[in-house]
Amino acid sequence: MKAWTLGSGSKGNSILLESDGTRVLIDAGFSPRALAQRLATAGVQPESISAVIVTHEHIDHMKGISAAQRKWKWQLFGSAGTIAAIADLDEARCTAIRSTASFNIGALQFELIRVPHDAAAPTAVVATATRTGFRTGVAHDLGAVPDTLRAAFARLDLLLLESNHDEEMLRNGPYPAFLQSRITGGSGHLSNRKSAALTRELACEQLRHLVLLHLSEVNNTPQHAVSAAETALRGAKSKCRVTAAPQDRAAGPFGDVTGGVRQLALAL
Ligand SMILES: [Zn+2]
Ligand SMILES: [Zn+2]
Repeated sequence: MKAWTLGSGSKGNSILLESDGTRVLIDAGFSPRALAQRLATAGVQPESISAVIVTHEHIDHMKGISAAQRKWKWQLFGSAGTIAAIADLDEARCTAIRSTASFNIGALQFELIRVPHDAAAPTAVVATATRTGFRTGVAHDLGAVPDTLRAAFARLDLLLLESNHDEEMLRNGPYPAFLQSRITGGSGHLSNRKSAALTRELACEQLRHLVLLHLSEVNNTPQHAVSAAETALRGAKSKCRVTAAPQDRAAGPFGDVTGGVRQLALAL
């Protein structure tokens, strides 16, 4: 499985996952035109997308979904609460996921995990490639880390995780107190420190890449976020690389770029 971030941050989010010919977007927070342009940099036609999973109904995650669904006939999956909270969808092409049971889209198996965030029924996503067993976890926009997410994110090969703000930059920055409280509250966004702490817990031998998502352009820098994660990973079993996903362009591919089965850890 390979992943590209098409853009990440409060101005729009979308991630492309690809495995054995199946292409699925996690979120579609850009206009159809921007989505098409950014997919083109990954060499992908919008018509070849099998489905979109929307994590929650905030505009930066679903801005383009209604128009893109009509334009390219995309199937949409999401929690029942998320789908109910988005207006103007093509209902014939929507599948509301009401349980924690996994479901398949082509060559990928998915699981949605509820996360705390100020939306109707926000979720994180685990994708498993059915042929190779390669596992990718995606968690955008969460204020805290529930144990169900820790369990679902065990033994990942690729982790894409929010690292929203540097706590000190937020405290000393221009945001008013009410907004700071919303961001740092249990239904807000994960700080670099909290993201790094979870990364440290999840670091395992097969974790090969960590991609940091949804960096604030005001209260964070890629250097702060990457440094917090790398410090947390120091001494861990994982030898994973760390990348901060940019807002204004696509980045990738990350993950299993050779397309093979899980690499065995050989002691050479
Ligand atoms: Zn967001
Ligand atoms: Zn959100």
